[in-house]
Amino acid sequence: MRLFTATIATETNTFSPLPTSMEAYREGVFLRPGEHPDDTALMCTAPLFVARRRAALDGFTLIEGSCFAASPAGLTNRADYETMRDEILAQVKAALPLDGVLLGLHGAMVAHGYDDVEGDVIERVRAIVGPDVVIGVELDPHCHLTLKRVRLSDIIVLYKEFPHTDVVERAEDLLRLVLRTIRKEIRPVMSMYDCRQIGSYPTTLPLMRSFVDRTSAMEGRGGVLSVSIGHCFPYADVPELTGRILVVVDGDKAQADRLATEIGTEFVTMRGRTAPDYLDVDDAITTALGINGSPVVVADPADNAGGGAPTDNTTVLRRLVERDVQGAALGPIWDPIAVRLCFDAGLGAVFPLRFGGKTGLASGTPMDAEVAVTGLARDCKQSFGPTQVKLGDCACVKVGGVEVVLISNRTQALGLELFRNVGVEPTERKLLVVKSTNHFHAAFGPIAKKVLYVDSDGPLPRDYTRIPYSRVQRPIWPLDAETSPGLVV
Ligand SMILES: [Zn+2]
Repeated sequence: MRLFTATIATETNTFSPLPTSMEAYREGVFLRPGEHPDDTALMCTAPLFVARRRAALDGFTLIEGSCFAASPAGLTNRADYETMRDEILAQVKAALPLDGVLLGLHGAMVAHGYDDVEGDVIERVRAIVGPDVVIGVELDPHCHLTLKRVRLSDIIVLYKEFPHTDVVERAEDLLRLVLRTIRKEIRPVMSMYDCRQIGSYPTTLPLMRSFVDRTSAMEGRGGVLSVSIGHCFPYADVPELTGRILVVVDGDKAQADRLATEIGTEFVTMRGRTAPDYLDVDDAITTALGINGSPVVVADPADNAGGGAPTDNTTVLRRLVERDVQGAALGPIWDPIAVRLCFDAGLGAVFPLRFGGKTGLASGTPMDAEVAVTGLARDCKQSFGPTQVKLGDCACVKVGGVEVVLISNRTQALGLELFRNVGVEPTERKLLVVKSTNHFHAAFGPIAKKVLYVDSDGPLPRDYTRIPYSRVQRPIWPLDAETSPGLVV
């Protein structure tokens, strides 16, 4: 038995001012055959690492293709996408004959000329391997679950958790289903229900938690192989942006249709009740200061690098300084030039620094302040579950009563090391402001006295009616009051 695996992945915010080129993939994951590390699942490459572990045990040969992944930002340029894609396609051809293909994709990648990158990849792989080879795909729930992908692959499995703590477990599910299909133990059929809605669905909140627990418990019983909840990725102006439910069932299409409809209908009734309350900036600060105990964690999702934002918006920081808040720490702000200036000034230096507020209109204006350099560290990393995320060189500067972590490699707040690397102990601060939508919760939730969410003027507004969509298929909630959810596959 022969399986091939590869990755091409990023999450594209089509409104982001940051273009994505091959360079961004080189800074992320850029691994050719023979270059894959022993046992580390980096961004979207879990199928490769899971299959490598299982190959000897399950008696198959794994052909490891290239893995390319970049941090979320704007559109990938056309030539670079086609170069990476064609490299993988040439590897698929060279690997024939194959029994199965495992693709570790993200699901919300957009390149110039390609609204549906993953659909394009799957279509071209299918054309090479033919109709009988089993194609299995792992996607992030913040994906555009297009009809093309579902029609041209055999099994698609999405992560269930947000924060995405189950990337490896879902790759294991996918591999198990692909192997059983190749061995003719099962015959997967997929049905998909389109909920016609845009929303945010952290699984750390009770309603989504119980929904995911209940739908997951259906798997492995009565022929149900897999249930995936497609959240959608709201910051992309592509036609098939929408929340969709995908179920995989053994053999019985009518059963798959019924189940997708049942789960999808329930998901529609949850509209507007799955996201946390968002406070405006001043309310969030006032509320946080009024809470007994510490630290209070305030998340700023509107400037989340994980959604393609530059992460250099200064609005929350400015209000903390203007209100003379003491004992606060904020991170990250992406500003490699400011980091360089801090290294040049040296630890302990007090000097006038301009930082943040640079990349786009939604970054706000830069901070100009007399800062004290209180921490400097080279080549930093932070943990996110089993993965290590690069922060690059980092500096901590103190402005009034606020310590600010400046980073060189754009990413969101994920691990406590973001602060600890530069000498800030997060458990000892009154208030922590983190730029992240919900992934921060895995590390910061357990140390937080309370978690608050703010809706700042960063480029990823929580109010979707403020996003200037022009190509998204309508009607869709909450842009339109009347929608027509239903089965689409
Ligand atoms: Zn995601």
